[in-house]
Amino acid sequence: MTPADGVRRRLGVMGGTFDPIHHGHLVAASEVSSGFGLDEVVFVPTGQPWQKDQRAVSPAELRYLMTVIATASNPGFTVSRVDVDRPGPTYTIDTLRDLHAQHPDADLFFITGADALAEILSWKDVDELFELAQFVAVTRPGHELSGAGLPADRVTLFEVPAMAISSTACRERVRTGMPVWYLVPDGVVQFIGKYGLYRTGESAER
Ligand code: ATP
Ligand code: MG
Repeated sequence: MTPADGVRRRLGVMGGTFDPIHHGHLVAASEVSSGFGLDEVVFVPTGQPWQKDQRAVSPAELRYLMTVIATASNPGFTVSRVDVDRPGPTYTIDTLRDLHAQHPDADLFFITGADALAEILSWKDVDELFELAQFVAVTRPGHELSGAGLPADRVTLFEVPAMAISSTACRERVRTGMPVWYLVPDGVVQFIGKYGLYRTGESAER
């Protein structure tokens, strides 16, 4: 789609490890898309996540595929490989620089949960982060949503339906033989079974 001349597109960016992607991610993206009038939300699975090196993360390619499966039916959702294909640990600043270069006609809205927002000030090149994107921080059960210390003109707090789902809990359920039906999309349930993910608590090496 080519927007009319001079009209800037509004592009949501939903970053995550997505190990696995679940309905909490999808509801957050859908709500922000609707609430902020976004033209598209691009999901960006991380490469090697720098904050999660205390546990083995599933191979980036499998997390990428689960994200594609989960978003395929929504014409407003796409998936980007920028982080998966960039060598080394993923930093949000690099994600935003790459997407900005790929979409010079778009205003970027980075979507983040309350827990990730709390860590934002520790992220690399925080000042440039706020120049590259507007941040939309969504509510998440079990986490207090606060913009304390963050620039009010660049960060918007936004309430979404409470989805008490985490990837950690999904992995734990699979490991202990409990169902993840309806917590993750049907195709993702099948994909987890097909590749035997999360059965041992340790994920396959990348
Ligand atoms: P893990 O338990 O492995 O950390 P997670 O469920 O937190 O997984 P991530 O991939 O770490 O999922 O999260 C990606 C983004 O989605 C983060 O900004 C996170 O805050 C947000 N998010 C995840 N789950 C929810 C949820 N249930 N409601 C709102 N936001 C969420
Ligand atoms: Mg998380």
